Amino acid sequence: MFHVKHLDFEVIVIGGGHAGCDAAHAASRMGVRTALITLKSSDLGVMSCNPAIGGLGKGHLVREIDALDGVMGHAADAAGIQFRLLNRKKGPAVQGPRAQADRKLYRRAMVNLMTNSPNLSILEGEVVDLQLQKDRITGVILGDGSELSCSAVVLTSGTFLRGTIHIGHKTLAAGRMGDRPSVKLADRLRDLGAPLGRLKTGTPPRLDGRTIAWKHLEMQPGDEDPTLFSFLSDRVSAKQISCGITHTNEETHQIIQDNLDSSALYGGNISGVGPRYCPSIEDKVVRFSEKTSHQVFLEPEGLDDHTIYPNGISTSLPEDIQQTYVRTIPGLENAEILQPGYAIEYDFVDPRHLSLNLEFRDLNGFFLAGQINGTTGYEEAAAQGVVAGLNAARYAKSLEAIHFKRRDSYIGVMIDDLVTQGVSEPYRMFTSRAEYRLSLRADNADQRLTEWGRDLGCVGDDRWAAFGEKMNELSVSKRKLKDFSVTSRDLNKVGVRVSPDGPRRNGQDALSLPGCSMDSLEALGLYMGDVSRETLVQIEKDALYAHYIQRQSSEVESLSRDEGIQIPEDFDFQGLPGLSSELKAKLNLVRPNSLAQAGRIQGMTPVALSLILGHVKKSDRRTA
Ligand code: FAD
Repeated sequence: MFHVKHLDFEVIVIGGGHAGCDAAHAASRMGVRTALITLKSSDLGVMSCNPAIGGLGKGHLVREIDALDGVMGHAADAAGIQFRLLNRKKGPAVQGPRAQADRKLYRRAMVNLMTNSPNLSILEGEVVDLQLQKDRITGVILGDGSELSCSAVVLTSGTFLRGTIHIGHKTLAAGRMGDRPSVKLADRLRDLGAPLGRLKTGTPPRLDGRTIAWKHLEMQPGDEDPTLFSFLSDRVSAKQISCGITHTNEETHQIIQDNLDSSALYGGNISGVGPRYCPSIEDKVVRFSEKTSHQVFLEPEGLDDHTIYPNGISTSLPEDIQQTYVRTIPGLENAEILQPGYAIEYDFVDPRHLSLNLEFRDLNGFFLAGQINGTTGYEEAAAQGVVAGLNAARYAKSLEAIHFKRRDSYIGVMIDDLVTQGVSEPYRMFTSRAEYRLSLRADNADQRLTEWGRDLGCVGDDRWAAFGEKMNELSVSKRKLKDFSVTSRDLNKVGVRVSPDGPRRNGQDALSLPGCSMDSLEALGLYMGDVSRETLVQIEKDALYAHYIQRQSSEVESLSRDEGIQIPEDFDFQGLPGLSSELKAKLNLVRPNSLAQAGRIQGMTPVALSLILGHVKKSDRRTA
């Protein structure tokens, strides 16, 4: 044990990975006595795979975590050594902040954030068993026999449940390279009737940067005006670096093709399903056989570390084959491998057995978050951690569960997707998963969630004060914009293409025209005063989408109506006449809590929905 503030707990979080840290921090922010128990004291902030946070869709999740005062964004800002806003040339709704991180700095920042959290104790140990009383969790048992009691448990064991590493034909039991797997807990979950499946993921070999011919490679610097993750950060902390870019070629592909039968992925050793969107190099060579080259980013793992992460060539080929194909890649002719690439296979729990608050249906007070729920990625894990941590804390305080909604957040989209659709491959976030993505932007996550977080009790005073100031500045500025008016002729003069005979417009409407910016309006005499650049950019983005969002609002309204039609927890789908047995089985599995959620179950029909609606109304009348 290395950091104990209490001996009896209200919430226990198992696992100190990305889900675990944000879950434990969220519970502790809610003022409940929380313990984080993890296998090794050095687990906090470990990035099992690529040293990077954010990206398309993922960056939105980090901003939402931050809007609720979570920790991932702070750690990423403290450790970022290259910040890039992805999709910069596309609309702001689909832009994703991303940072290459220094592994050591990220861990250091995370340890700092966690150890300074007031209600949180951090303990080292393996949780091997759960204590129950009827249908309620009451504590956990560690490998050394110690027993810890609590009201709620959040399990965030990542890739560790019965983890098996594969390198060619070699296999070893491990949660990730260098860590033992969690087997007893996996057995315990199976005994509890948890529906377990197998998934897999992979990682590339790590290279020694001193053996790479950097001079011959194209280098990619970060953005000149870095987009940070936390709404409270105002500058980068670490030195900024460039990444190298190289490419595989036909020789590389031939070597891989010739050795496919010794790849764990293709040699038939692995039964689990892998991430389609993060394919191994073997996958790419087979699936995109027409391509003669694939891009490889050479990403430094830290400022004082020679390790290079070659992003794009994850593999489970034998070590000697990895060495041979790596050396066919320009710039890597003499590259030494520091750690071979590998694939890992692990147990996950079918998330359709969880409620929207991430609580396991058959066991009250037992919450699951992160890779164990069939997702992949640090950001997806941390975002679920926030949901489970907040709900575990509320359960411990006997408060009602809270649900994140699809219309308000990417977090809501992800949780609804998981518990309603389940997963057939590791789930990762994309902007395309959010139907209301024009209003769910990374830049306005605080406006969507901070006030709600404050009401829930997880947003601290500093953030609340900063948010208040920002909102005040935004509303004063928007008022000035609305009070300003311009003619179409004026707009023409500053290069905005609009018919000169068009109407006079207020500043807000003018700003929504293509080619019109705050600079154009300022050139026409608009005076905004001493306003931050961040606020000006926000105003431009809001104006750009104003018309579309207005159009979307009727859809959002009808979704809200359907979400308002609650289906009772004990609703008898089985006894509903007129439903196919396939739909009954799906409804019984998911147990949707609203008509809107029922509508998103795969294969649901309008007729079936109206049948459910009719019976819900009937049972409402009976209970009224
Ligand atoms: P983890 O970060 O795995 O943390 C789990 C924690 O639980 C660990 O600290 C562990 O010590 C602890 N723990 C486990 N069992 C117990 C127990 N019984 N008692 C106490 N503590 C326990 N993501 C991507 O987005 N793209 C990729 O390409 C990618 N590739 C990956 C490749 C590999 C080889 C691995 C291992 C992971 C990869 N990931 C990738 C996934 C990414 O690492 C995870 O999504 C993320 O770390 C999940 O976070 P988590 O908090 O759920 O679990």
